[in-house]
Amino acid sequence: MAITRLLIANRGEIALRIHRAAHEMGIQTVAVHSTADADAMHVRLADHAICIGPPAAKDSYLNVAAIISAAEIAHADAIHPGYGFLSENAQFAEIVEAHGITWIGPKPEHIRTMGDKVEAKRTAGKLGLPLVPGSDGAIDDPEEARQIAAEIGYPVIIKAASGGGGRGMKVCTGPDELETLMRQAGSEAKAAFGDDTVYLEKYLGNPRHIEFQIFGDGNGNAVHLGERDCSLQRRHQKVLEEAPSPVINSAERARMGGIVAKAMADMHYRGAGTIEFLWEDGEFYFIEMNTRLQVEHPVTEAITGVDLVREQIRIADGKPLSVTQDEIEFKGHAIECRINAEDPWTFAPSPGLVTSYHAAGGMHVRVDSGLYAGYRIPPYYDSMIAKLIVYGRTREGCIMRLKRALEEMVIEGVKTSIPLHCAILEQPDFLNGDYSIKWLEEWLATREG
Ligand code: ADP
Repeated sequence: MAITRLLIANRGEIALRIHRAAHEMGIQTVAVHSTADADAMHVRLADHAICIGPPAAKDSYLNVAAIISAAEIAHADAIHPGYGFLSENAQFAEIVEAHGITWIGPKPEHIRTMGDKVEAKRTAGKLGLPLVPGSDGAIDDPEEARQIAAEIGYPVIIKAASGGGGRGMKVCTGPDELETLMRQAGSEAKAAFGDDTVYLEKYLGNPRHIEFQIFGDGNGNAVHLGERDCSLQRRHQKVLEEAPSPVINSAERARMGGIVAKAMADMHYRGAGTIEFLWEDGEFYFIEMNTRLQVEHPVTEAITGVDLVREQIRIADGKPLSVTQDEIEFKGHAIECRINAEDPWTFAPSPGLVTSYHAAGGMHVRVDSGLYAGYRIPPYYDSMIAKLIVYGRTREGCIMRLKRALEEMVIEGVKTSIPLHCAILEQPDFLNGDYSIKWLEEWLATREG
């Protein structure tokens, strides 16, 4: 059933990333795009391009009927959803499969289970992953919530079962505000995700965000590709990621990676996945699983040499994992900077015409971006316009190279987050690897003050 023509149900740098992997495998590509993206780089490079609707994502990149029709018209035999948009939509995966098209992603039932964070936690617990202490499932009775919060101790965090992108979360410091915050979290979640189910977790004071990349073949075999440290966050959104984590040694990587890979093997998980943990005082606490490719996957590619998109396509095509756990070696250090079209200090979006563009280059420097001079960044979508990924034999060497590469990047006509990244790389805490998920916001606050 070899895949010969792959439809890319996404846009921006990830659409280009998928196109590149496909072409390197001799697979043709079909770009689908909104009217706002007719001039996008991946649309120009793809073998076929089909406009599927107006700019608003709900009418184009989330328009299931239009995407399936495009696949049929273009005779695509596989669909890769990228990240975001329909990538974690189990129903879409089922519809794709029902049309006899290969879904490049996990089994729909696993997408569904892990997409509900309450179910995901329950499943992770059964599979032997360590959990953040909290309510055993969803909670809607404020009295019961107060009891649980008293047991686990304040502060607690109220989280939306359908949450994502850091939305629908409220930190609660005492019993008096619990009911109000539960209601607020519920209604925010309802507005954002159409589901007001919430649950309670202990709020960890100063954790790091450390996630493991895994791959399963769907038949009971799975490997881990080490961890990524994504603790540099603003409003629960990742800004810069690195692999390996500055606080995880190889014994700990092998131990925790082994637990994670075994859990995925037991589940008969298929394809790429990320198991996210908070890490504090040497302990891991599962928070969620993403059943898709992640934005930050290139740092894992840099230190393992494994092409994760190629691996996804191979597995979807029914092939075995291309590497065994013993063959996966972790070498050197990699850091990714997410470059957004926004003001580096106020974070106000800055879409518009890119008047000049020059990507950094040189040894071990990778730029994943659909930018070019004369491209107009549309205002309708995510503000991330490029990812700069740099590799070095040591963390210090990687940081020096990253500074050099950031100096070389030229993006004119719009504001970008490059100055923010340059400033972060000068901070002693960052250089020492000494930062938690709180660090960036605290540092930004001191700059303002
Ligand atoms: P989302 O799916 O919205 O991204 P996550 O569960 O992955 O939600 O959490 C996103 C971020 O929120 C984490 O990386 C962390 O910064 C913060 N967070 C989540 N749960 C907790 C917790 N129990 N204690 C402290 N911070 C948390």
